[in-house]
Amino acid sequence: MGLRESMMAVIVRHKLLANQIPKGCTTPLEEWIAIKTRKTFKKSDELRKAIGKDNLDYVSREDFEKYQLYRVREQMRYAEENAPYYRHKFKDAGVRPEDIQTYEDLTKIPLTEPIDLAEKSMLFYGVSATKLLREFTTSGTTGHMKSIGYTQNDLISKIDIIASALRNLGMTKKDTLHVMFPMVMAWDPSLMLVGACNILGYKSSVCAEVDVEKQLSTIREAGATYIIGIPSFIYRVTTLLSKETDLTKLGIKKIISASEPLSESMRSLLQDAWGCKVVDVWGMTEFGLACAVECDEQNGLHTDEANMLLEIIDPETLEHVPMGQKGELVITALNAEGTVLIRYRTHDIAALIDPPCACGCHFNRRLMKPSGRMDLQFKIGNGHKVYPVLFDEAVYISPEVVDYHMDITREGYRDVLTFEVEADSQKEELAQSIVKAVSALMPVEDGIAEDLVAEPRVKLVPPNHKDYAIKVKKIRDLRENFD
Ligand SMILES: [Zn+2]
Repeated sequence: MGLRESMMAVIVRHKLLANQIPKGCTTPLEEWIAIKTRKTFKKSDELRKAIGKDNLDYVSREDFEKYQLYRVREQMRYAEENAPYYRHKFKDAGVRPEDIQTYEDLTKIPLTEPIDLAEKSMLFYGVSATKLLREFTTSGTTGHMKSIGYTQNDLISKIDIIASALRNLGMTKKDTLHVMFPMVMAWDPSLMLVGACNILGYKSSVCAEVDVEKQLSTIREAGATYIIGIPSFIYRVTTLLSKETDLTKLGIKKIISASEPLSESMRSLLQDAWGCKVVDVWGMTEFGLACAVECDEQNGLHTDEANMLLEIIDPETLEHVPMGQKGELVITALNAEGTVLIRYRTHDIAALIDPPCACGCHFNRRLMKPSGRMDLQFKIGNGHKVYPVLFDEAVYISPEVVDYHMDITREGYRDVLTFEVEADSQKEELAQSIVKAVSALMPVEDGIAEDLVAEPRVKLVPPNHKDYAIKVKKIRDLRENFD
């Protein structure tokens, strides 16, 4: 039996929480988190004492934070017993699980650096490698491979939250989810997505072909109503198909953008082409990928707070920043068995927003879309930071643009940004409008004003339909002696 079949067999046997969400619930994802909280409340004297209530029929933000802090203590106890990295770390820092009673107390726990996870992956495991159902490696920017282990419980919990997220997006048994990731990725996202659809009785179709016609015929044959995939790939398919096909006629109700940052300009181009909302999801390999999803309000991502505690810190002082302010995202896994991660530095810049949300959620905190990884940032001009998604806003200004790459070079003392843009039109006006949009981006505008950045250069080339490579670096820094 392959992994997919064995997972399906296990899922069928488990009573997943996604199936306990009441019919007609308008906030299924938050309800899933509440069900999980109530389940723990019933089991744990320690949590009941901390909350000080007889029942948890209504979960307030205050109650919920007590649940999260309780889970942090439990996860620390588990780590002390089972994960050597934390056993030593907590001992050296002199911090005990019972020291963590408030949100502020979290700063007593030392932070975990991604480089530690890369160099000592095995020391983060809470179980022996033989008990892992799946091990997944991901490259770090330093070249080290991080190895993340998932037990059966870890995977089932992920499928459970994905199922409740799909319900939150409005899917019903009448819907079909079309999964279009362009190639077999290190981690097969379709396994989890198809599994989640199966539990809820939703239909799904999977097409990993780069060929856009094949994508279209699969969507049509399956009668797909929802699409999930990588935005640059969906965008490419959209641009190439919309020449001959009116995509608004296909009856797609929602597009879910995953695995890559979604720029607002790309979102609006996709929404116009398909005539439906495009919502963003966000995740990290270290935390099982599916971590947060937008609701129809498109104003922040609802996070899986039952399994993750999010903090925003000042990357310099390492202190918490006030609610709503931007800083570095730090995550603690609250229920992990395989790879245990406590106060893990993501090096992503993000902000949190307190509830309520206009969709009806009353205790779930939202994550403002991470604006770019600190380690994927480049400095231009007088130290102005730029990151890939920033340029998406300026380059994808017209439906004629299919894709682009950018090189940063240096001529004399000036940084030069050269864009090679694949577009259906090679008209000079298009190139000029991209130059104008890029020049108006604040870091570029400042750099030009200081005479440390040259006017951006744009070269238009016809779309290369065959050699689509998803993992090609969007930005290459070709400057020498540049820190
Ligand atoms: Zn919402």
